[in-house]
Amino acid sequence: MSAELVPTIGLEIHVQLLTRTKMFCGCELEFGAEPNVHTCPVCLGHPGTLPVPNEQAIESAIRIAVALGCEVAPRSGFHRKNYFYPDLPKGYQISQFDVPLATAGRLGGVRIHRVHLEEDAAKLSHVGETGRIHGSGASLVDFNRGGTPLVEIVTEPDIDDPAAAREWLALLRTTLRQLGVSDVNMEEGSLRCDANVSIRPAASPELGVKTELKNMNSFRYLERGVEAEIARQREIVESGGAVEQETLHFDPAGGTLTPLRSKEYAHDYRYFPEPDLAPVAPSAAAVDAARASLPELPEQRRDRYEADLGLKPEVARRLAFDASLAAFFEEAVTAGSASAPAALANWITGDLVALARERGLEPAATAATPAAVAALVGLLAAGEVNRGGAREVLEVLVRDGGEPAAIVDRLDLGAGDPDELAAIVKRAIEEDADAAAKVRAGEGKAIGALVGAVMRETRGKADGGEVTRLIREQLDL
Ligand code: ADP
Ligand code: MG
Ligand code: ZN
Repeated sequence: MSAELVPTIGLEIHVQLLTRTKMFCGCELEFGAEPNVHTCPVCLGHPGTLPVPNEQAIESAIRIAVALGCEVAPRSGFHRKNYFYPDLPKGYQISQFDVPLATAGRLGGVRIHRVHLEEDAAKLSHVGETGRIHGSGASLVDFNRGGTPLVEIVTEPDIDDPAAAREWLALLRTTLRQLGVSDVNMEEGSLRCDANVSIRPAASPELGVKTELKNMNSFRYLERGVEAEIARQREIVESGGAVEQETLHFDPAGGTLTPLRSKEYAHDYRYFPEPDLAPVAPSAAAVDAARASLPELPEQRRDRYEADLGLKPEVARRLAFDASLAAFFEEAVTAGSASAPAALANWITGDLVALARERGLEPAATAATPAAVAALVGLLAAGEVNRGGAREVLEVLVRDGGEPAAIVDRLDLGAGDPDELAAIVKRAIEEDADAAAKVRAGEGKAIGALVGAVMRETRGKADGGEVTRLIREQLDL
C-alpha cells in the first residue's frame, strides 16, 4: 500500500476596492455600467499620460493589511509587470513586487504571506466561436474595469483540505466586508480566488509540486475544484507519475480540469520599478490610526462570544463568522434579557438557520424578528411551551412572523398551568402504582411509563424535563 497522501493548499485572493475612482486616474467605478464609458487616456494607456495614486485605495489597503495582522512596510514601491494581452493597453500592469505593502499576517490560523496593491486589467468576453482564424466569434474588451484598485492577498500554504479552504475564504470575506472596503462579491468578481494545490506523503517534511487553479468564482467551485485537483494529483502519484507545475482551469459544469499554461516565472514579466510613481510610505502614526479604527472583527467576536457569553467554540464560530447571523443573535440577546445567550445561540444556529434555509433565506430575511425569537426562547425557558411546541411556533414565526405568546395560545401549544400539570402527574402515579413502585425501587427506566401517561394526558404539550422532575419530586426521590 502506498503511503498516505495529504493535500496542501495556499490561496491567492484579489479584492476590488470600493473606491469612488480608479487606482491611478479619475475615472468613476461603476459595476454593470455600459461598456467603455468609464475610460480616459491614463487607464487606456495613452503615451505621455501619468498615473496619480488613489489615496482612498491606499488607505483601504492599509486597513486590510492591519485587519489581517500584517506588518505594513514603511516604504513599498510600485513595479511594472510586463505582459502583452488585449486586456492590458499599457502592456504592463502596475503592481508591487519585491517589497509589498504588507507582510507576515494571520487570519483564522492561516498565515498571510503578503498583501499588495495593484490595478485590475480590463474585462474580456468571448462571444460566438473564437479561437480560429476564420471563426465567427469575437473577443470584446470592456475597459471600465481596467485600472480598478485591487488588493492581492497571498496566504502561506497552511490549509489542508478543500472544505477548510472554503471556510477560510468565507472568514476572509466576512472580515473584509466588516471593513467596508469592498463589495466582496464573487459573482460580480469583486472577490476572486486562485487556489494552489499540492499533495505529499504524510511523513514528508517537503511540500509537493503545486498546480494553480485560476479564478474559482464561487465558494462551492473553490471547494469542488480543489477536491477534483487533489483527486487528479493522487491518481498521477499513485500510478507512479509526477505532478507537473502548471496553471489549470476548473470547469464546474463538467468537473474537469484543463491546462491553461505551464508555469510562468517572475522573470518572464520583466518587473522593474515604476518610474512615474513615488513609493507608498505611510507614517507609523497613520498605520496605528488605521489599526485603532478597526471594527470588531469576526475572530474577536468569536472570542467574546466564548468568553463573555459562554457559547461553545463551534457555536460561537458559526455566529461570529457570519456577520448577518451575528447581528441577528446580538439583537436577540439584547431583546431577550430573560433568556440565556447560549440557548438563543443554539436556537438561532440550529432550528432557525435550518427553517430559513428551507425557504432559501438567511434568518434575517425571514419574518421572524430577533425579538420574537428571544421571546420564544424565553417562553421555553419558563416552561410555558415545550421543545416540540417551540419548534412549531418558530415555523410560524419564520413563515408569518408574529408574537410567540399569541401563537402559543392560538395553536393551543401551551404547556398549561403548573398546578394542573402537578395534578396530572399525581393522577398518573396513582393510576400506575406498579411503575411508581419500580421507580422508587431504583429502576430508572420505569419512569418512562409515567412520563408517557402524562404526555398523553397533556397531548404532548408538557415539557418532558419538567414532567420527570415533578414525578421524582412527588415520589420523594
Ligand atoms: P509562485 O512563486 O509560484 O507564485 P509562491 O511561493 O509565490 O509561488 O506561492 C504562491 C501561492 O502558492 C501561495 O498562496 C502559497 O501559499 C502557495 N503555495 C506555495 N507552495 C505550495 C505548495 N507546494 N502547495 C500548495 N500551495 C503552495
Ligand atoms: Mg505568486
Ligand atoms: Zn481613467
